[in-house]
Amino acid sequence: MSAIPWFDDFEGIAYRYYDLRMNVAPLVSSRKEYASIWHDTIRYWIDPTIKIRFVETGDKYWFIMGADSQKPESNMSFCKLLQKSEHYERFKKGHGGEAYLRLGTYAHKSLKDVKKDALCKCGHEAVDHDENDNDECLYNECDCKEFSSFQVNLLKRKKTITDIAFLDEKDATDRSSCKRLF
Ligand SMILES: [Zn+2]
Ligand SMILES: [Zn+2]
Repeated sequence: MSAIPWFDDFEGIAYRYYDLRMNVAPLVSSRKEYASIWHDTIRYWIDPTIKIRFVETGDKYWFIMGADSQKPESNMSFCKLLQKSEHYERFKKGHGGEAYLRLGTYAHKSLKDVKKDALCKCGHEAVDHDENDNDECLYNECDCKEFSSFQVNLLKRKKTITDIAFLDEKDATDRSSCKRLF
């Protein structure tokens, strides 16, 4: 079997409740990128062979995902070191052995694009950011200099994942972690 290329050109993973199961959605930057990744690779994945592995190392984890494909010549596997998050921890506790795989697109929003109650990365609302100067956060203890939020759209097409495992590896700090799937 020839080696399957690794793909890491995605921003992160969205973990969301949507439908019956939790959704795992690698985030790509545009509809166009979504179209090529879905149509060339993921749509040919054979659902029962899809595996995801989470190899934890400190406050980060390797996200590793792959499957057997009906079209092996355009297959690839996903692997990237990511920061743990609240959504990640919720997925870890709540997935129940199954998830939907979708893709998501993301867009960065600045202060002028959002409503007053939109949350900034710093955890404070848009209304708490200065609209005059450089939209820094007005909370004294906050050092956020610029409002920034992240809007995620999950796309409709989905696959079902039933092979999910979390591994704790103290030494999982390099790309060899990617091979742990197979
Ligand atoms: Zn703030
Ligand atoms: Zn802020």
